[in-house]
Amino acid sequence: MVARVIPVETFDLVIFGGTGDLARRKILPSLFRRMRAGQMPKDARVIGTARGKMTKKAYQTLIREALEEFIKPENRTDEDVDAFVGQLDYVMLDAKGDDGWEDLGKKLREGETRAFYLSVGPSLFGVIAQQLSKRGLATPKSRIVVEKPLGHDLGSAQELNAQLSTCFTESQIYRIDHYLGKETVQNLMALRFANALFEPLWSAQHVDHVQITVAETIGVEGRGGYYDKSGAMRDMIQNHLMQLLCLTAMEPPARFEPNAVRDEKLKVIRALDPVPPSDTVRGQYRASIDDGSYLEHVDNQDSRTESFVAIKTQISNWRWAGTPFYLRTGKKLRARMSEIAIIFKDVPHSIFPEVEEKRGNALIIRLQPDEGITLRMTIKEPGPGGMRLKEVPLDMTFADALGPQVEVADAYERLIMDVIRGNQTLFMRGDEVEAAWEWTDAILAAWANSSGRPQPYDPGGSGPEDALALLHRDGRRWREIEA
Ligand code: NAD
Repeated sequence: MVARVIPVETFDLVIFGGTGDLARRKILPSLFRRMRAGQMPKDARVIGTARGKMTKKAYQTLIREALEEFIKPENRTDEDVDAFVGQLDYVMLDAKGDDGWEDLGKKLREGETRAFYLSVGPSLFGVIAQQLSKRGLATPKSRIVVEKPLGHDLGSAQELNAQLSTCFTESQIYRIDHYLGKETVQNLMALRFANALFEPLWSAQHVDHVQITVAETIGVEGRGGYYDKSGAMRDMIQNHLMQLLCLTAMEPPARFEPNAVRDEKLKVIRALDPVPPSDTVRGQYRASIDDGSYLEHVDNQDSRTESFVAIKTQISNWRWAGTPFYLRTGKKLRARMSEIAIIFKDVPHSIFPEVEEKRGNALIIRLQPDEGITLRMTIKEPGPGGMRLKEVPLDMTFADALGPQVEVADAYERLIMDVIRGNQTLFMRGDEVEAAWEWTDAILAAWANSSGRPQPYDPGGSGPEDALALLHRDGRRWREIEA
């Protein structure tokens, strides 16, 4: 089965920080894949900008090397790479000063869609937005793209939104959370709103609880300096897990269109109860055989920054009152795994009393490693000898179900094309980001005011003991962290 591709109109894409890690590893390889899929117009232009002096040819070579590093050989040909780098240009530019802006202006075409992708540190977001506006480069057909960190608390997020909105309207601002670009996350919406089967069950009446897990195996590695100022709460919960929670819990929007979807997500965030400290668990990983502990990677030896967090949260509305949502994320865990698990209530009365352990149906929406959706069902074990029950998964791993020809697109591919198309459905609105910070800030403030410390946990496991206890005390247990 060949995926349907709808070409986009021509565009000028300017990548600020065009020589950086994000540009080389994600943005440009994603555009290359879209070109291969036939979606990128031949006259579209991509202009990398950065502080370094570099010729256009040297920039093209840099990106050629990036494609060779990040795109598998079977997914590229020399002709395609030549064609792609032929669409690239470079402008040396100082975001804070005057250098380069005039050159950039000359390269942009009048009347075409312009996308300014800010692949630079967040301290430059406001500066670049103002420069674009001041120098007349922000035309009505312009879009500006930013991604995390979108502030480090409510105040800084408001400041950032204010800076962006003096130069661009909300409909021109694209705040990326790449989790929203994942195939399975959109499939969650298809599953909920294009099938009549699940929606009647999608409430506290039938759902016992929801678990959202984003587990990483890596530690902070070389990013200790940045990470120690952030922590799992700011780095993962406020954005990625919050977005997953919103899409899982939101009411059906009237239409699949940007503001209808974002209004519903915002209502979920606003309905979240304040979380008492007793419903939160923080952890910090210990040393393993091959790597130092969290504290060995950061300067502050008294750091109370969490590399793991687990939270029990409640949504106070008619649909979800009484159904807890458990969130957990952490570094140095057993496997790299991201999933949303909807655990349904048990049958009200079992007619099979010999079955010792009863586990309800579960719908598992897996984001990684293999994107797919699984429904856990109970069936009779085949064969004679009484009524033995067995759990089986009804599995829809996309690669298996749709055939190997359907390559699951990288989230950035879809999101960049959505920017060009002007579709904001999968991007966060400013008020959503602020509401998420408001909720997160309250938890962070409670931690800051307590004398407690993150609980140490061993690498390669499922986090601190207290995280297990958070569910045990409710008579529940976490799903295994496994690849
Ligand atoms: P990086 O340090 O690799 O690249 C930064 C780029 O910005 C370089 O091209 C540099 O030349 C340019 N730059 C810096 N100061 C400048 C100035 N004054 N004027 C013009 N250009 C300037 O960083 P990165 O990893 O590519 O990340 C960029 C941003 O994206 C950061 O805010 C990061 O937090 C965010 N981010 C990165 C990733 C990732 O996977 N790398 C993922 C999500 C978000």
